[in-house]
Amino acid sequence: MAARKLRRKAAPPPAPKKKVKKAAPPRRRRVRRTAESDRLYARAKAKMPGGVSSPVRSFKSVGATPFFVKKAKGSVLVDADGNRYVDYVMSYGPHLFGHMPKAVATAIRKALPHGTSYGAPCRAEVELAERVSRLVPSMEKVRFVSSGTEAAMSAVRLARAVTGRDLVLKFAGCYHGHADSFLVAAGSGVATLGIPGSPGVPADLAKATLTATYNDLASVEALFKQYPGQIAVIAVEPVAANMGVVLPKPGFLEGLRKIADREKALLLFDEVITGFRLARGGAQEVFGIQPDLTCLGKILGGGLPVGAYGGRADLMAHVAPDGPVYQAGTLSGNPLAMAAGIAMLDSLTPAAYAKLERTAARLEKGMRKVATELGFADRLTLNRIGSILTLFFNPGPIADFDDVKKSDGAAFSRWFHGLLKRGVFIAPAAFEAMFVSTAHTEKDLERTLKAHREALKEAFAQG
Ligand SMILES: *Cc1c(COP(=O)(O)O)cnc(C)c1O
Repeated sequence: MAARKLRRKAAPPPAPKKKVKKAAPPRRRRVRRTAESDRLYARAKAKMPGGVSSPVRSFKSVGATPFFVKKAKGSVLVDADGNRYVDYVMSYGPHLFGHMPKAVATAIRKALPHGTSYGAPCRAEVELAERVSRLVPSMEKVRFVSSGTEAAMSAVRLARAVTGRDLVLKFAGCYHGHADSFLVAAGSGVATLGIPGSPGVPADLAKATLTATYNDLASVEALFKQYPGQIAVIAVEPVAANMGVVLPKPGFLEGLRKIADREKALLLFDEVITGFRLARGGAQEVFGIQPDLTCLGKILGGGLPVGAYGGRADLMAHVAPDGPVYQAGTLSGNPLAMAAGIAMLDSLTPAAYAKLERTAARLEKGMRKVATELGFADRLTLNRIGSILTLFFNPGPIADFDDVKKSDGAAFSRWFHGLLKRGVFIAPAAFEAMFVSTAHTEKDLERTLKAHREALKEAFAQG
């Protein structure tokens, strides 16, 4: 009798079960809410073209409307409705250490009481210029500007002035900001003469921009043959990251260096994305090629608006006031931005790059594994170098913009939405990079890969 009683007492009553459930952390909301973002978007659209300050943010290419960000920290974005996202956009590149890394936040806070803009030089500019030159030795001298666009635009003006030539050679699919000279369509196939990629670019100016094929030295040679002694500069992203990540084939960058030397043209590396990301010395360090001129931006400002161009001292001697090539900026060398940049560059340790590589490699491996398990591997191409990667909905291989353009945009769009509704934010456009930061955790990766699995099923469900 006693034993039975005991046993009965020991039997688990139903009440505590409920208690345990209650004590568990609140479950993440399943359904993404957008009411507040939608309200902000309606107001934004009334006063701003497309409701945004930069077109890709509009979500137009994935047939949706944007969320509005409330705050960001580390690897996480929180939107106006309180939805949280693991963020792989990272402001399109600046945040190598995630949002608001302590060192950068502290530097900005410390600089703030000293003023926000002077119209006179300050110590922080000197200190950042010295660091840039040390990390990127080909940049013997540096001019700070406020964006990557300005950097590329100014570098081209300098190249034209120094060589006394007007033509610029760029590659289809490479982006160098929105200055007129660079807004030239990726001429399909053999198009050699520039066609304005945007209304408002004078046809005569567009003609001064020639378009070659990335990874195709023959297309470069052909343009030099067609325009002998007229090309001022070869502008290239040493790793293309604005048509999705496309790596240079072995010998491509070396070939550009040789052609530029032979033709007495300048070689401009646009390292606005790759600078400080692939290595402390950027892609030029990784591939061992010395460009004449380099553009920087994004990471350089630690999340504040900074760009820079620089290069050989004899070339930079042409920039005003040392020389006649005019270029100026009210907010250039801005003390808050310089302080953020210094803190950023001082955080670029070997351990940081090791962590970036580890995290990005793990993400790549995981994404490939999921694709293989679902039987979709042969419909996808994943390109990665260091902490930037792109999943192309395209069997590949992908070496240039024509390859890129064969991708399945509808499948990408479904994948994008599949990720978004599961709390993973990638750029709302098929041909962008995913940016991995040191702030991305193992948990972030797990969540991402879980979302990737479901999103990939959805991407191909109708494809
Ligand atoms: C982002 C980018 C630019 C333009 O920089 P902004 O700061 O947006 O003007 C130029 N070149 C490359 C390679 C870029 O990725």
